Amino acid sequence: MAISHKPFVGAFAWALLDRETRDRIGALALELAAGQFIEDIAEQHDPARRAAAKASAKSSDALLLEFLLLDERSVLAVDDKEGAWHVPSAAGPVCQVCGGPARRRAEMICSDCGEPDYEDLLILMGGAQP
Ligand SMILES: [Zn+2]
Repeated sequence: MAISHKPFVGAFAWALLDRETRDRIGALALELAAGQFIEDIAEQHDPARRAAAKASAKSSDALLLEFLLLDERSVLAVDDKEGAWHVPSAAGPVCQVCGGPARRRAEMICSDCGEPDYEDLLILMGGAQP
């Protein structure tokens, strides 16, 4: 499936949700972040790390379920009628050919998949700093 030039923007999607849905999703997101934080910080054999991993997995699954329910109700969508994915904006500009990082959102193509742009050529020639 193709990549849309329009990203999925979480902040815009958030604004479409009702208070109750926001409360559920916000609580799950905080539970997920707390679990991942403990996983990242706790020592390898710390029992809290194992318990936090379980909490993170359950929170992640619950978040996905919430998202799927919103997608089914057409509140949110990550694809469009033309059959293209709206990749989350957190990825930054992505190449529509390979999915890698694009130079700029307006171009939607990377240096490997397209012609290098003028700024790239200047950097290669040592005429400008990145
Ligand atoms: Zn590419």
